[in-house]
Amino acid sequence: MTFEVRDPASGEVLARLPLGTREDIGTAVEAAEAALPEWSARTMRERGRVLERAAALVRARVGQLARQLTAEQGKPLREATDEIRGTANVLEYYSGISANAADEFHRLSGGIDAFVLCRPIGVTGAIIPWNMPALIFGWKVGAALLAGNTLVLKPASGAPLTPLSLAQILGEAGLPAGALNLVTGAGEEVGEALVLEPRIRKISFTGSLETGRRIYSLAAQEIKRVTLELGGSDPMIICADADFNRAISGAVAHRFYNCGQVCTSVKRLFVHESIAPALEARLENAVTALQMGRGTDPGVRIGPMNSHSGRTRVACLVDEAVEREEGRVLCGGQVPRSNKFAAGNFYEPTLIMDVVPGSRLLREEVFGPVLPVTSFTDMDQAIALANDSPYGLGASVWTSDPRTARDAIERLQAGIVWVNHHTKVPPEVPFGGVKQSGLGRENGLQAIQAWSESKSILINKGIESL
Ligand code: NDP
Repeated sequence: MTFEVRDPASGEVLARLPLGTREDIGTAVEAAEAALPEWSARTMRERGRVLERAAALVRARVGQLARQLTAEQGKPLREATDEIRGTANVLEYYSGISANAADEFHRLSGGIDAFVLCRPIGVTGAIIPWNMPALIFGWKVGAALLAGNTLVLKPASGAPLTPLSLAQILGEAGLPAGALNLVTGAGEEVGEALVLEPRIRKISFTGSLETGRRIYSLAAQEIKRVTLELGGSDPMIICADADFNRAISGAVAHRFYNCGQVCTSVKRLFVHESIAPALEARLENAVTALQMGRGTDPGVRIGPMNSHSGRTRVACLVDEAVEREEGRVLCGGQVPRSNKFAAGNFYEPTLIMDVVPGSRLLREEVFGPVLPVTSFTDMDQAIALANDSPYGLGASVWTSDPRTARDAIERLQAGIVWVNHHTKVPPEVPFGGVKQSGLGRENGLQAIQAWSESKSILINKGIESL
């Protein structure tokens, strides 16, 4: 059995891939088990060299990979190119981590030396989403392989082709057969089989809160290690003293990038009341100027959404807010009417002002090109609004006053806080959320620790302590 991968801009079938089964997961795990002794016995430096070669191959094929990513995911070609370059950077970052960087040594009293060693977990699993399918592949695969694990990965059905190409590149770069195995197919079938497979000792998942809850509960049966990155509803706070132009272009760039389908997109904009009227006019101009179209068309900033169901979800949330008079739609708020867009999953870039607290637009992760704006009177209120969410992935504050920034950094409930920026996630910096945004961190040395088992060793060098 197969399933179709379609271009979300046109509905054209790009490929038919195997609809994997539980048995396929079993076969992939056997391959990963067989590859484990040799791969985990290599030094970190040797493993890093494979990632280094893969990074170079990804760079050499940026154009081809970016076109494939745009075709299956929908994002503008410029953004796809950025993502592929970012993936090469991540693989390169992990290739450069020095041997045993996350290990510790303590000289203790009584002649005791203590070593805390990071050791491979073994055969591991990853489930990735369709919104950033190359970058998130790089985050998980780079760290898992460097730490000495072998891996079975399930790509999202909405964007599996680019991960398959990247896996092939790793093979060309010298990754031994079986060290990385991809199984395509439905989340409920192969995703759940991966989580339930007893020989898989850790699962790293990025996706929705709902699926994350399911995975967490299934993983509990085997007390499996889990890393969960479950998205966010990131607030962006613009203070009265912020650089107005930078803040406006930041809000637009970081909300509408990838058609608003990024876990750290600006999903709620809070603006000081003194600048709200001026900001409203400027934002409206900036959002209506965003060109919508196929990701390969020049100048396009808004591609189609990845799936029809995703567009329906976003449209329902907007329609509900309008019906309940929870805000004023300034632009967008609908599926485009032109025939030009009829075959794709397009949704107009949307700006909704004066959104009331309690609206689902503020409580849920709105994964599409919709920016809800609410004004505030003082920082206490801004922080309260920002923290009034079950999520806690990212948050940003835009101000020229370092004291305001410091105060917000301390009080915002988020795993990552930006000042006068949003969304930037470099591979050196741990990334992950608090509250229901998930568990654990990706990137940086914390990712190596998360893909390792810690083993503590105490060596008694002298008989006096016995
Ligand atoms: P899901 O969480 O359902 O999908 C993410 C991945 O999990 C995919 O590979 C999917 O496979 C897999 N999966 C689905 N169900 C299961 C399961 N029961 N067990 C194991 N794996 C499973 O997200 P959706 O694609 O349905 O998107 C829905 C919403 O989730 C979005 O609108 C957005 O709000 C949020 N989301 C957030 C992301 C983020 O980065 N924050 C990323 C993606 C989604 P398959 O593709 O085959 O279904």
